[in-house]
Amino acid sequence: MEDKILDLKSLVKKRYGINPDLIQKFRGYDNDNYYVRADNQKFVLKIYEDLALEPILLAENELLLFLQKKNSGYYPKPILFKEGGFLKQINYNGKTILIRMLSYLDGYFLGESKPTKEVISSLGSFLASLNLLLQDWNNSEIKARNWEWKIESIELIKNRANFISSPSNRNKVLYFIKQYEENVIQFYGKLRKSIIHNDANEWNILVEENQIIGLIDFGDISYSHLVNEIGIAMTYIAYDKEDVLHWAGLLLESYNKVLPLNEDEVESLYYVIALRLCMSVSNSAYAKLNQPENNYVSESENNAWSMLDKLIFIGPIAARNYFRKVTGFSPRKEKKEIEYIDHREKYLSKVLSLSYKAPLVMKQSAFQYMYDVYGNVFLDAYNNIPHVGHSHPLVVEAGQKQMARLNTNTRYLYSIISDYAEHLLSYFHPKLNKIFFLNSGSEATDLAIRMARAHTKNKKIVVVEEGYHGHTQTGIEISDYKFNDSKGMGQASHIIKLPLPEATSSSIVDSELKKIKKRLLTTKIFPAAFISEIILGCAGQVPLPKKYLETIYPIIRSLGGVCIVDEVQTGFGRIGSHFWAFESHDIVPDMVIIGKPMGNGHPMGALITTDSIAKSFEQGVEFFSSFGGNPVSCAIGKAVLEVIEQEELKKRAFEVGNYYKKQLIDLKNQYSSIKDVRGSGLFLGIELVNSNGKPDSDMADLIKNKLRDRNVLIGTDGKYSNVLKTKPPLCFSKENADEVVQRIGETINEYGRIGS
Ligand code: PMP
Repeated sequence: MEDKILDLKSLVKKRYGINPDLIQKFRGYDNDNYYVRADNQKFVLKIYEDLALEPILLAENELLLFLQKKNSGYYPKPILFKEGGFLKQINYNGKTILIRMLSYLDGYFLGESKPTKEVISSLGSFLASLNLLLQDWNNSEIKARNWEWKIESIELIKNRANFISSPSNRNKVLYFIKQYEENVIQFYGKLRKSIIHNDANEWNILVEENQIIGLIDFGDISYSHLVNEIGIAMTYIAYDKEDVLHWAGLLLESYNKVLPLNEDEVESLYYVIALRLCMSVSNSAYAKLNQPENNYVSESENNAWSMLDKLIFIGPIAARNYFRKVTGFSPRKEKKEIEYIDHREKYLSKVLSLSYKAPLVMKQSAFQYMYDVYGNVFLDAYNNIPHVGHSHPLVVEAGQKQMARLNTNTRYLYSIISDYAEHLLSYFHPKLNKIFFLNSGSEATDLAIRMARAHTKNKKIVVVEEGYHGHTQTGIEISDYKFNDSKGMGQASHIIKLPLPEATSSSIVDSELKKIKKRLLTTKIFPAAFISEIILGCAGQVPLPKKYLETIYPIIRSLGGVCIVDEVQTGFGRIGSHFWAFESHDIVPDMVIIGKPMGNGHPMGALITTDSIAKSFEQGVEFFSSFGGNPVSCAIGKAVLEVIEQEELKKRAFEVGNYYKKQLIDLKNQYSSIKDVRGSGLFLGIELVNSNGKPDSDMADLIKNKLRDRNVLIGTDGKYSNVLKTKPPLCFSKENADEVVQRIGETINEYGRIGS
């Protein structure tokens, strides 16, 4: 080391004609930097082993020389070799290297102290002035440069994101890349381009007395969208702060006063900032693989991850509104809720209900969050259809790709249908080995009943009180929740309804089951099928008692019927302990119907059954569904399974669900208005009663609406509409659970006051 430094001294002397009294190494990203002191002059000597950098380093020197002419003192100045030129290939210690020297700028790094409003304002105008200068400068080498630190190099960033080891973190990055593709690329034509510094981070900016006095490290210069310059600077000003919008906005405001952005540039900023963070964490993951000993590359990583989470929480619409405000653009005009309602009701029937007293106008979403058009962010503790998370990038990508390639029907051969079928069936007992793809849970129910009848030649259907299985004619006929509603059509003669015993005591369950058994056997009903959920969602998340199915299945089968389980709500790992809820009982059904989470929001359903039932059905007319099993649906369904596996979402449902339930039970112990907390994994219900112990639907409704006002989405259901239902996307966290529990507690307190 010492030798090398001695050598460097003579090298500097020989090449630059100056006599250094001190040379000290300091850190650099991809080259060696040395601080050089000679006769009160200070320099930075830069040594590069990668000779391919020569053309870009020449361009960088050219830029620095241009800036010297315009605004010397603020930027490093290239130092001339004795024999002329600013960059040389030389032989050093047996290696060919590139060397160059720059003037050293004094000052503190912005990263060394807490920035004040004044510093930030100075930085904004400094960067804007630099960008104004650079508008007159061009360089073909820089224009042609495309590499991992250029925001537009999306494909490269995506590639590097693959090196992020945590799947859920990786998918956050892929989410923002996808959002950038969807929300910025289409406006590229409206974004100005220029050569920019491209790396105004806190360790490249020099400060003295609250003023910016220099900018160093032009190694990342790029021909890029102008807005990226301020976007990158905003990222680094904000990424270690709590209120990221406030700090980023301060900087933007001062930049915009000197160099006003256009509206499209302002609208792209949220995504640009996010992409810069994605680049940082992706490049860092890649660099860690290649140079694990170099800590420098991952120094800002924690800040970047935390800011990505904050961006998800803030959402694109609130950020856009804020950035518009600080740049002087008037707020985007949005229609009022009532206008949306009026427009909808002009064309759609009122029979389609809306959630909440003040319905929500939704616009975008990310994982467990939904964003309304006005910029409000909602924690989604209710929707189980976006099972792996709203707008999950792998699901979106799978659908987009397959849609661009081929979408057709099952009368043609294509491999994705059998690949997906094989994958999905691997989650079932081997006897459940045939799958029929459909477009919804209701269709799956309908087909299941049709098939059961074809197989058994019987007609009657045994159902459970408060069950729900779909909206088709058959679906309604077999759903007590619908036919038994005060406005329902009543129970048809071919429907046999079994009670849903409260699982509170095993002796009650035993005696109920005895009665059911007697009734089925003595009245000699010969049913086609018995259908039930495992935890009855519409009943208010009521789990079937453990012995229920084990007792009833043999009777149904002895009477010639088949047994159907409805996993539309509970399947795909939601209950945490098992992939399918029926696996928590000691039974194997003859048919399973699935839907909702299967396509994460893309309309999909399926019926899974045995070979022998499928064979009976084959004796009848051809079965065909125009869309069921189409390649796009299969690609999406496959992606959903892959995300469940990759992100270990069943395990997450178990861990977060257990935590969530425990917090809710603690709440129950505090408030007598909570009678029961039930369910499993991330499929939970909270039953509310009044002071007389009677179902309290008013309180349930109040809590649902109050939580909506406090940006949390939950639902209500049950025979008396007195059960709060929570069944969030499985990426839900323990912190999210805490928030919901806290909000419910607050509202019960409030309700107590209202009621007293
Ligand atoms: N079964 C159950 C248990 C359900 O909850 C639902 C929908 N709520 C269905 C079937 C019907 O599914 P879809 O709405 O996809 O037709």
